[in-house]
Amino acid sequence: MKLPASGWVKAALHTHSKRSDGRLEPEDAVAFYRRAGFGVVALTDHNKVTKVAQPGFVPGIELEARVEGASGSYHVVILGLSSEPPEGVRRDANKLLDWSRDNGCFAFIAHPYWSTLSGEDLLRVRGYAGVEVYNHGCEVEISRGYSGPHWDYALSHGVKSYGLAVDDVHHYSLDALGGWVALDVGEADVEEALKALFEGRFYASSGVEVKSYEVGEGLLRVETSGASRIKLLSGDTRGAYLSVELLEKLAQTEGLPVELEMWKEGGDCLYRVKLAKLMAEVQVRGESIVRAELRGELPVRKYARIELYDSEGRGAWLNPTFTG
Ligand SMILES: [Zn+2]
Ligand SMILES: [Zn+2]
Repeated sequence: MKLPASGWVKAALHTHSKRSDGRLEPEDAVAFYRRAGFGVVALTDHNKVTKVAQPGFVPGIELEARVEGASGSYHVVILGLSSEPPEGVRRDANKLLDWSRDNGCFAFIAHPYWSTLSGEDLLRVRGYAGVEVYNHGCEVEISRGYSGPHWDYALSHGVKSYGLAVDDVHHYSLDALGGWVALDVGEADVEEALKALFEGRFYASSGVEVKSYEVGEGLLRVETSGASRIKLLSGDTRGAYLSVELLEKLAQTEGLPVELEMWKEGGDCLYRVKLAKLMAEVQVRGESIVRAELRGELPVRKYARIELYDSEGRGAWLNPTFTG
């Protein structure tokens, strides 16, 4: 998969207005995101679909549903509805997800960590298209915004889903503009946006920008506007970790069982690290990684996904590539 260097459209996919417990009127909520440069905005009020006649608007809803045996309730966010889910399916997460699929909607599981769900609980529900890997509101309020391990558990058990970052904004203050999805669409057309979501043509971000990403046989390459850490996550005990700090330490330490070369090119610092059957090449500009490439026998099983973080802890989460 190769993503383009241009054409990203920012999307806010989990927001609340005064129609439930948000602070702004629906029109003002959408206008807030439009002003901040978002091309696509979904209102996902609790228990009701709110509609706004503005370009790039996606109707949505958030419902709380349960499954027997789960350690918490599921907050399910559903996008692209033309009608409200009937009462009979609202409280059963699997019935609700079946209804979403039958009605062509994009449904994802909101904030598993905040909901006290476990990785195992993500296996009790079926048919969701995504999981919130990062929920900014949950992070700034109670430090439970990051659900990467929940998502990895489900991915490791064969549940294919995408990762989303959202604000889940209510107050439109500290809980705003900290999590979004960057869609690979030419323009902010709602049909195109939903299609890109279903096809996984997006990445999730809380501030790090991804320029391009490519995964192929024995190759993984990512280009970014700047990250200090890059993590490769995969099934079972596979994965890899690269950081500017680690590379600098490796370059200064003698007698390590790795082959490392370092050279300058333009103003950038390039590192080549050889580890068994794997070769990593990393380009560092200033204090940030701008390109990383892994070649050879990639340490992946079942799936491969990338997380990037900058020195402030802001991240980007790429969708998984499934390796079988
Ligand atoms: Zn919720
Ligand atoms: Zn919410």
